[in-house]
Amino acid sequence: MEQYPDKELEDALKNVRMLLPWRHECLACYVFRMLAHGCDGLKWSKTYRDMRAPRATALERKLPELGGYCDCEVMANVFHPNDAMWELDDQGEVDETRIPQCHGVRLGTIKPCALWFMRSGIQWGGGVYRGARKAS
Ligand SMILES: [Zn+2]
Ligand SMILES: [Zn+2]
Repeated sequence: MEQYPDKELEDALKNVRMLLPWRHECLACYVFRMLAHGCDGLKWSKTYRDMRAPRATALERKLPELGGYCDCEVMANVFHPNDAMWELDDQGEVDETRIPQCHGVRLGTIKPCALWFMRSGIQWGGGVYRGARKAS
């Protein structure tokens, strides 16, 4: 039986952890972050669903309906940065190199956090910013 040195195992786990959604990270922030590792169909969206929102079984149907046939299209067509929450560059465009920290969502939802608008049907919806409510 093959053995792995502890150090090797630890490093491998660290890498795996980087590829998983953080506990309250939203779908949009997660997929956006993961696209740095490439786009392969709806792999990242599905990974998120399986780990964080297993009941969102309509995801495979819903995302393509909104123009997201793969993860990069999801970020191009389904989610849209909420300008007000991002740093803007000299042109007043969202600076995608300075990614704000995810505002967090409850477990089980595929809705984005306040950093994003989500398209609903042909309209952009879900973009009403209600302010991050903190449980205290
Ligand atoms: Zn793609
Ligand atoms: Zn987020």
